[in-house]
Amino acid sequence: MNAPYQSGSSDPNGFSGNVDNLHLPERTWLECLKLVKGRVNNQSFQAWFEPIIPLQEKDGKFVIQVPSQFFYEWIEEHYYSLLIEVLTQVIGKEVVLDYEVASEDRESRAGGPATLHYSPESPGPLSPEHASTGGQPATDPAGGAMARQLGVHSLNPRYTFQNYIKGESNQFACAAALAVANTLGGTSFNPLVIYGGVGLGKTHLVHAIGNHVLQSDRSKRVLYVSSEKFTIDFVEAIQKDRVAEFSNFYRRVDILIVDDIQFFAGKEKTQDTFFHTFNELYQLGKQIVLSCDKPPKELKGLNERLLSRFQSGLTADVQPPDLETRIAILWKKSAENGVELPHEVIEFIALNITSNIRQLEGCLISLLAKSSINHRKIDLELARDVVRSIIGEVRTHITVEEIQHVVCEHLGIPEDLIRAKTRKQEIVNARQIAMYLTKELTNSSLKTIGLHFGGRDHSTVIHAYQTVEDSMSTDPVQRNLVHQLKSKLELSIR
Ligand code: ADP
Ligand code: MG
Repeated sequence: MNAPYQSGSSDPNGFSGNVDNLHLPERTWLECLKLVKGRVNNQSFQAWFEPIIPLQEKDGKFVIQVPSQFFYEWIEEHYYSLLIEVLTQVIGKEVVLDYEVASEDRESRAGGPATLHYSPESPGPLSPEHASTGGQPATDPAGGAMARQLGVHSLNPRYTFQNYIKGESNQFACAAALAVANTLGGTSFNPLVIYGGVGLGKTHLVHAIGNHVLQSDRSKRVLYVSSEKFTIDFVEAIQKDRVAEFSNFYRRVDILIVDDIQFFAGKEKTQDTFFHTFNELYQLGKQIVLSCDKPPKELKGLNERLLSRFQSGLTADVQPPDLETRIAILWKKSAENGVELPHEVIEFIALNITSNIRQLEGCLISLLAKSSINHRKIDLELARDVVRSIIGEVRTHITVEEIQHVVCEHLGIPEDLIRAKTRKQEIVNARQIAMYLTKELTNSSLKTIGLHFGGRDHSTVIHAYQTVEDSMSTDPVQRNLVHQLKSKLELSIR
């Protein structure tokens, strides 16, 4: 999170920096923060005020930059009058508050992504205002706004490798994507086909390739298109008698990214055209990146020669994210929204929404919205309501993996050690507690539990169970700890 005003200095209010050296808006803002600090709790202060950047103070107007649209709405709803009050107090006269949303601002200043757009109405293939050519940055006349409007066939600048969380589930696909992006046309990964279920990050990853290519070389012709858009454009080109132009347009790119190729199914003519486009690009050594919802060989309604082309490069899958990755994604996305969620809320969502990253994101947004609209604190209760409304009900069982995670995290030990051979006392204790809780909270057999803890014998599990039970009856600290962990885990499934 962007926190320009960190506390911890010698200033009694905790503000650092020499005020005299600051420019007007910063100086005013620093004074405002001192006043705000006494009026809101520390968590709100960190979440909603530290990320704000003062931009301008002029003609009775004070402009601040906020990290996201959501952040802006939140501030408007919750803190607008407080802000006006402190600003008026510090400046000494009435003031109008104005906002800039950081990400959008950055996009529009960059002039929008330099992607290509085919339009049957455009004067010709690769018309200058739509193409990035000859080392010149593309001049998208409407800047980022136009690119956003044309979202179906342009790159979304927000989908980058930097904000793509890697985990075991997507490691291979991500590495392949990065290799392709780094050495355009230079790998044997041609085509690169990324496949996987809905909401698992395929579109994000293929956009990231395109964005990365453009970041390194803006003269590259990057074309992102969904298979639906390709089909619609093709049909329209037929109707308008512009098939030759259509084909030319697609054949002059350096990298062609086609998302969701499963939608080509059953569209013979489109497939034919795509086949020829594919071949030409391939022969020219141009990169092709495709995504689909299942392994190419299982795609139905696609003709054999196309399928065999699709399988001639590298196929990489994205799997549903594991618990750790889900937690990492929630941390990152909440920070992007300028919010710091309580740990137990993050964990609760991650434990319950397991199969789809889009759903994970949706849950977070609806949590923030509900909290804002209903003036409710973001806590487990609210999270439970939101999760229930998304997946119908919260889960009623828990896995060994989750128990290990919660125990290790609570005790601050690395998760792999609980399954390792180590006999260090603190690890042994954690392992025994986790085994005890697994026996208590799951239906797993002693044998299965042993297997999950580094292939240990069932007698080890019995011993662990008894040791923990004994120590709980004699040691109140241990009893307390086990109860705390148990209720934390139970809470997550209630
Ligand atoms: P798909 O194309 O597989 O249906 P998307 O790429 O549209 O999925 O992903 C859905 C949402 O989840 C997007 O907002 C995307 O940014 C986000 N997302 C998916 N995977 C990740 C990841 N590994 N890290 C961060 N965000 C992700
Ligand atoms: Mg997609």
